[in-house]
Amino acid sequence: MKTNSEILDKENLTRIIGEYPREPSNQTSGPYLLVSGGIHGNETSGVLAIQRVFRKLQEDKPSLKGKIVGIAGNIVALKKGVRLIDKDLNRVCTLANEERLKAQQSLDFHEASEFNELIKIVEKLENEEFNSAFHFMDLHTTSSTTAPYISVNLRERSFDFAKQMPLPVVKGIEKYIPGHFDHYQTLKGHTGFTMEAGQHDDPKSVDYHEAAIWIILVNTGMLEKSAIPYDNYYKMLENASPTNDNFEVIYRQEIGEDHYFRMDPGYANFTKINQGQRLATLDGETIVSRSKGRVFLPLYQNQGSDGFFIVKQA
Ligand SMILES: [Zn+2]
Repeated sequence: MKTNSEILDKENLTRIIGEYPREPSNQTSGPYLLVSGGIHGNETSGVLAIQRVFRKLQEDKPSLKGKIVGIAGNIVALKKGVRLIDKDLNRVCTLANEERLKAQQSLDFHEASEFNELIKIVEKLENEEFNSAFHFMDLHTTSSTTAPYISVNLRERSFDFAKQMPLPVVKGIEKYIPGHFDHYQTLKGHTGFTMEAGQHDDPKSVDYHEAAIWIILVNTGMLEKSAIPYDNYYKMLENASPTNDNFEVIYRQEIGEDHYFRMDPGYANFTKINQGQRLATLDGETIVSRSKGRVFLPLYQNQGSDGFFIVKQA
């Protein structure tokens, strides 16, 4: 069976994956939904899910209030099948970088130009006359197997928006890792979330991403429930995650450059831990948990500066 990365037609990939409705004459006022995938170039699942949704919209041609726009994130990295070219695009989407780009300062890393194009898309949609509310969802996957979950910035609106889906929601990652695309859009006053659907090449990740897009389209009143098998999508997500509790990030284990981090085996997202429990080693020194909680995003790949996070029930 082909992996998600092999399924993606990299050659013909374009920034705008789809817009619906496409013709201005078919447009009505309503919420706008900007769905992004592939902000990390090795995460093709979101792009494939967006393509599926647009294929179905174009075949069935249901009426839709407002507009959905699907975009690809780090285009060059996606085409090369790598996570990033120079820098992590999901760390450089800051207001400071936006200012530099608008002042025509040259930033000497590839992802600056990707961010610049994302800014232009966001601003164009902000200014469209039919846009009554700006919503977004940014689709990601993880290196290790994990049940799907959602990450939101500390904004009540975004939390409520995310809770339309029966998935666990983790709040407050922006305090530890600012500059993600979700963070940028949140700072611009928009409402939305980041969804982690599962392992990069798991076909189920694409199914979960797709289900999430349909559920949001219906729950925001953009699409009639009867236009899709809504209950199937909802149940799919409900069954995908062992919990739909809410959590808040309380700790980040940083890995400095040239340090050797090794996570102890056996941890997964939301594994319960006690205070004093051994979690990892950093340069051979044992790291134990400072508090009771749950492990979040344990690092089992070589790349990265976040060893793990700890979340507590919120
Ligand atoms: Zn990602």
